[in-house]
Amino acid sequence: MPELPEVENLARGLSARILGATILEARCHFPAAVGSEPECFAEAVLGRRIQELHRHGKYLFFLMDRDVVLALHLRMTGQLLLVPPDQKPDKHTHLELLLSDPRQKIVFRDVRKFGRIKVLEGSISRFVEEKKLGADALEISVETLYRAFQKTSRSIKAVLLDQRVLAGLGNIYTDEVLFREQISPLRKACSCSYEQTASLRRTIRSVLRAAIRGRGTTISDYVDARGESGSFQNSLRVYSRAGLPCPRCGRQIVKSRVAGRGTYSCPVCQSR
Ligand SMILES: [Zn+2]
Repeated sequence: MPELPEVENLARGLSARILGATILEARCHFPAAVGSEPECFAEAVLGRRIQELHRHGKYLFFLMDRDVVLALHLRMTGQLLLVPPDQKPDKHTHLELLLSDPRQKIVFRDVRKFGRIKVLEGSISRFVEEKKLGADALEISVETLYRAFQKTSRSIKAVLLDQRVLAGLGNIYTDEVLFREQISPLRKACSCSYEQTASLRRTIRSVLRAAIRGRGTTISDYVDARGESGSFQNSLRVYSRAGLPCPRCGRQIVKSRVAGRGTYSCPVCQSR
């Protein structure tokens, strides 16, 4: 599932190529993906000029003139691609947006059909408030994270995955961060001291930044706007490595279930 680095990478790739373009045509093949009648969606976006992209957690926002904003969430298998204007849609293509200057097409594909691209009713800040999203995982302060840790009895893995605490971490990067910090995913978040929380936050930022530099992680479906895979899967130390030796101590990485998710950790290095 795409997490913060993949969405950031997508945003960077798109920014260079679509800012200033105008939407000439909108073809919707799966109304649930746009969350409204295709006619209403088309009416809202036709003729609009894309002025800015903004990311918060795993959401990507397209800011257009006349205050029209599109919010995209890729969920499990969503892909947003830039393709030539005459490329035929396949059976997983739910939306096509034909652009001018230069003429090209944004295509939203999604095999599992959970991804959404919707016109917002209000501002981005109102949307973030309504969804109760926490601060972006690259922006959250130690104080905010520490306060969130102190007021819960949940495991640290569950808290880091909770988009209402911090937005952007998913299963892959949470496991990678906890391994690098040598913290058990089962440990209670409230047992972290302020100093440990500060160290954890530094690691969250460094892992996410390294993954952005690596153009994201491709385990199954993630590709960027050009259709290219990321490379950070080659830098993963525990995620999807059950049975392989821990890069730190050599013991086998184990897969368990924490916070309802398949979780990879080293039983020796992450015993605390
Ligand atoms: Zn180990």
